[in-house]
Amino acid sequence: MRIGLASPRPILQPCSLEGLTYQLDPYVGCEHHCYYCYALNRAERDWREEILVHRDFVHRLRHELAGLEPQTIYMGWNTDPYQPAERDPRQTRQALELLAQRGFSVCILTKSDLITRDIDLLAAMSDPSAGVSIAFQDEGVRRLFEANAPPNERRIAALKVLKDAGIRTYALICPVMPFLTDLEALIERVAPFADRIWVYPLQMETEKDRNWQYIEEILDRRFPELRERYREIAFSPAHPYWAGLQRRLEELQKKTELDLRIKLWNGEQKR
Ligand code: SF4
Repeated sequence: MRIGLASPRPILQPCSLEGLTYQLDPYVGCEHHCYYCYALNRAERDWREEILVHRDFVHRLRHELAGLEPQTIYMGWNTDPYQPAERDPRQTRQALELLAQRGFSVCILTKSDLITRDIDLLAAMSDPSAGVSIAFQDEGVRRLFEANAPPNERRIAALKVLKDAGIRTYALICPVMPFLTDLEALIERVAPFADRIWVYPLQMETEKDRNWQYIEEILDRRFPELRERYREIAFSPAHPYWAGLQRRLEELQKKTELDLRIKLWNGEQKR
């Protein structure tokens, strides 16, 4: 894996998540290269070959934080902060050190158990939260779509370690892949270790997008019977498939104590 330098750009970026103003990605690009990744459509490089780091990362981040009130920063929006490269440049750890020193906190998302290395820094913050994303119950199917990311067992084990350390935890089941994501089984698997569970669908924008082209190629090769159904469902937030799943999960929520946040169906949007 080559690690290049990114062209100069602000490290702190606007964050559209409720209650958060900024997010930061310590890396530009993600070695995990999940084939469904939405950020792939804006990738500057082929992430299987090269990712980028910010020049003078710590210095510039310190400068950008200088005028801000301490607040929670989201990490993990466009890239995984704990992708394999983090073992050496350690830009995520450096960012956390700086944020902790300045009284900031984080909401952080990853697919890697490397996050447990930084529990000391998370524990030094005020009310941080940490989550793992997960999309498949079946390991063979998972490898088709995200072969470079750590297996589910390691993510769930990391969630347990974080929870045991007193960190607020969440699981993000995303993207829900029609007929391939075993949603209820995944919820049952993460529930003991996640204080909250978010569920988001696969939502494609255009057939020209890189992630759709990868998905389509995998479906053609391994699940040809699903290809046309995906074309109907994945581009349509208001499709009855999502409404049905949403209802199933709402029933599940009523029967359990789970803190389930379901974003599967948007009946207002048209294709
Ligand atoms: S880990 Fe996240 S950011 Fe990285 S490729 Fe996968 S979905 Fe995209």
